[in-house]
Amino acid sequence: MRRPSTLITLGAAGLLAAAVAAPSVAAPPAPTDTSALRDAVTTDGVMQHLEEFQAIADANDGTRAGGSPGYDASADYVADKLTDAGYAVRKQDFLYDRFRQVGPSVLDVTPDGASEPYVDGEDFVVMEYSGSGEATAPIAPVDLVLPSGAADNTSTSGCESADFEGFPAGAIALMQRGTCTFRLKADNAEAAGASAAIIFNEGQTGRTDLLSGTLSPPQVGIPAVGATFAAGDEIAGLLATGEVTGHVVTDVTVDEDVPTVNVLADTTTGRADRTVVVGGHLDSVLEGPGINDNGSGTGAILETALQMAELGIEPRNRVRFAFWGAEESGLIGSDFYVGTLPKAERKDIALYLNFDMVGSPNFVRFVYDGDGSAFGIRGPSGSAHIEDTFTDFFGSQGLESAPTAFDGRSDYQAFINVGIPAGGLFTGAEGIKTEEQAEVYGGTAGIAYDPCYHQACDTIDNVSLDAVDQMSDAIAHTALTYAMSKSGVNGTKSSDGGGAGAADFAGSHARR
Ligand SMILES: [Zn+2]
Repeated sequence: MRRPSTLITLGAAGLLAAAVAAPSVAAPPAPTDTSALRDAVTTDGVMQHLEEFQAIADANDGTRAGGSPGYDASADYVADKLTDAGYAVRKQDFLYDRFRQVGPSVLDVTPDGASEPYVDGEDFVVMEYSGSGEATAPIAPVDLVLPSGAADNTSTSGCESADFEGFPAGAIALMQRGTCTFRLKADNAEAAGASAAIIFNEGQTGRTDLLSGTLSPPQVGIPAVGATFAAGDEIAGLLATGEVTGHVVTDVTVDEDVPTVNVLADTTTGRADRTVVVGGHLDSVLEGPGINDNGSGTGAILETALQMAELGIEPRNRVRFAFWGAEESGLIGSDFYVGTLPKAERKDIALYLNFDMVGSPNFVRFVYDGDGSAFGIRGPSGSAHIEDTFTDFFGSQGLESAPTAFDGRSDYQAFINVGIPAGGLFTGAEGIKTEEQAEVYGGTAGIAYDPCYHQACDTIDNVSLDAVDQMSDAIAHTALTYAMSKSGVNGTKSSDGGGAGAADFAGSHARR
């Protein structure tokens, strides 16, 4: 959809006013007229790529997960299109350990009082990179903080080996979320001789629901499940009245050294020492075709790249379009890329723009909170500037937007860990739309932004054309603005995120 030209004029004036008013450590770049590229990047153009991703999934058991034929076909499709358009394209190979659930899990206790049997996927769920196996043994609580519910509750359950003094060998460790990573808790329990680990949510507001966590690779040696606060609290209550026997079953496997790729496509012009990286993950989960997550982001990035080439745009700064592999297993492709980048080349990256889910059917226009004003996690110096570029653009179109946290849920994390400024867009996943958001953005309050998130129904029908239209305009605008920028976006300073490994999430799963 084309924008009325009066609005574009107003938008440019607004950007100019901002440039004059800014106290400016990093002055906003001179406004670039992005209208030609935005007109060229159409909803139809983006949707053609999503149709192709759907067809690829249909031909490959309904998935485009890392290491699968559907992923490889997606990578070929993107690489071929970009090569034909004149980009310098390479596939970056890497290996990773892919976690898979083979059968259902069990969490049961006796005596169980009046409680219903615990339900897999509702009351508890296997943690990613859990061991596979079965344990029937007494449950032993580990340094729990109950009753819980206070906003400032901070459990350290299982974080110190001292928590396991006197732990009966062979028992099932009942632990509470808080302070350290689930990995550390599970490792400490295994070292103390536990036969299985149950980690339940911490209990305060926002930390009561099902804990869907990752232990991060490599696979731990004992079965580990995450549970709701209610389930953990109930088991702790039973333990207060006597011995409780637990039964934990996990049926999982880890495919080791699965080969996969990132696809990287560079413009052949532009300053290499000011490279703008524009990326999103190309893999889906095993459960579905991943058309919103993240066919939408990669489709919009691909179309932006193709139309830049079609219009003959020669960017002032090199642009590297990046399509990450194995994001759904814990941000592995982007982590590999940044981790193996020589330090000098790292310094050449001016900024990173991330687009992961930009077509959610019940969408909100979320912009990453670069300045930390909303969530207290500030990106590296320059990230605030990127946030402003997105919010100013939406403002110029008469569209509201809202901040979303840098909490480790997508591929920006590796970049901000090494001080590269980052930003991007997100239209929502499993979170529930509020009444206030429904008033501003339309859609339906009380249901998820994407009710098909990580499911088989994340198909071509699971995409809002309005979201794709608005987001792809913002992607084209911001990518071109930084591609043409003469002023710098300062990087190479640490973020408030605290550096490597500090994030609360590793992709879609909580890690602490
Ligand atoms: Zn995603």
